Amino acid sequence: TVRTRFAPSPTGFLHIGGARTALFSWAYARRHGGSFILRIEDTDVARSTPEAVQAIIDGMQWLGLAHDEGPFYQMQRMYRYKEVIQQMLEVGTAYHCYMPSEELDQLREAQRARGEKPRYDGRWRPSLANEAGKALPTPPSGVQPVVRFRNPLDGVVAWDDLVKGRIEFANEELDDFIIARADGTPTYNFCVVVDDRDMEITHVIRGDDHVNNTPRQINLLRALGAAVPEYAHLSMILGDDGQKLSKRHGAVSVMQYDEDGYLPEAVLNYLARLGWSHGDEEVFGMEQFVQWFDLDHITASAAQFNTEKLNWLNAHYLKLADPQRLAAEATRRLAAQGVAVAGGPEMAKLVALYRDRAGNLNELADAVHPFHVAPKPTEELRAQHFTEAALKGLRLLHQRLSACNWQAAELGQAVKQSAAESGLKMPQLAIPLRVALLGLPQSPSIDAVLEVLGRERVLARLAAVLP
Ligand code: GLU
Repeated sequence: TVRTRFAPSPTGFLHIGGARTALFSWAYARRHGGSFILRIEDTDVARSTPEAVQAIIDGMQWLGLAHDEGPFYQMQRMYRYKEVIQQMLEVGTAYHCYMPSEELDQLREAQRARGEKPRYDGRWRPSLANEAGKALPTPPSGVQPVVRFRNPLDGVVAWDDLVKGRIEFANEELDDFIIARADGTPTYNFCVVVDDRDMEITHVIRGDDHVNNTPRQINLLRALGAAVPEYAHLSMILGDDGQKLSKRHGAVSVMQYDEDGYLPEAVLNYLARLGWSHGDEEVFGMEQFVQWFDLDHITASAAQFNTEKLNWLNAHYLKLADPQRLAAEATRRLAAQGVAVAGGPEMAKLVALYRDRAGNLNELADAVHPFHVAPKPTEELRAQHFTEAALKGLRLLHQRLSACNWQAAELGQAVKQSAAESGLKMPQLAIPLRVALLGLPQSPSIDAVLEVLGRERVLARLAAVLP
């Protein structure tokens, strides 16, 4: 059965590239009835923080990418890495190296001076029974050894990458890399390998910044007698301008999208199409995505971020969303601005009125804001719209509305009649009315606005502008 994992290093928020990796890993497991595992790679203690762990978990939760197992924390698995290092030392797939770091630096410098690629020369690598014997130096006293992996000396290590095709590295290029430092702490590639093996990962889906780690990891897995998983290395995401995606392109953190008013289903749909395609299909939910998703249709070239497309999807999903949910979102966003909506006009009705015009949840919250907080029309708007004739019409309307049955059709009639009676065309009354009620010259249908704003608020706001 398929087992995938998402293995973020908690050194910052969940960024958009990480979210896409998580989405693809999640979808692949779902597609095949397998398991999706969350593993927190927190061994870089200097850069890992609990806040970052939380930010990653929050981001995944917001997107709805639920893991089946975990989260596992590498810092809690130290005993296991030490155990495997011990086993490798015992069977000879790893060895102690006592080379002091100054000596290693000198070696590298000399190699560079000769125009060679700096690499460890294997001076502490013990000969195997079938190799020509070589005497090892005597361990110097006072040097804590590192543990090095006994990498194959020749041949190639190759894999058929599910995105990039066949990739090969000559073993000559890989030296006997360190798997445990002098203080005993295991190194990055080693922990990944032990975890991928113990967690029985079948498909490693990750960013292509890890391509250079893969040959080392494969050699380690083989030395451990473990099955080598399939690898799918995803190309990176570029900004609109073709440059590496960074803060200056706008939001990079997933939770920033929440703050910026995006719906998670829009972000998911967008990410699903970022470097993967299913014919010409652009708009689909996650259920559909899981049925379609495969690794064959991931593009090997870098994907370019397109904010316009994301915005379009967001507006699309805004129109489909349940009004109660939108009401809760608008309420939360207004509360963040210190606006309490309890006792105000009904939010679900308000958002239904505005969601077709709003591009995101913040615009939606802004649109309904003047319903909850009586606006103060600007001097400019007053001068422009509250002409003598308009004020006469508004006064008449105030009288009519006081006696009106509060229902859209009847309210609309009242506006029409007041306009006719004051010798105004409909817009000549309706626009000043909007300015009086909402502080804005435009709004959705005036009957609907009157109805949802409610008698008391309408009459009070009208009275406030009448001389
Ligand atoms: N922890 C690595 C990262 O955040 C991912 C490792 C992997 O997927 O193998 O980039």
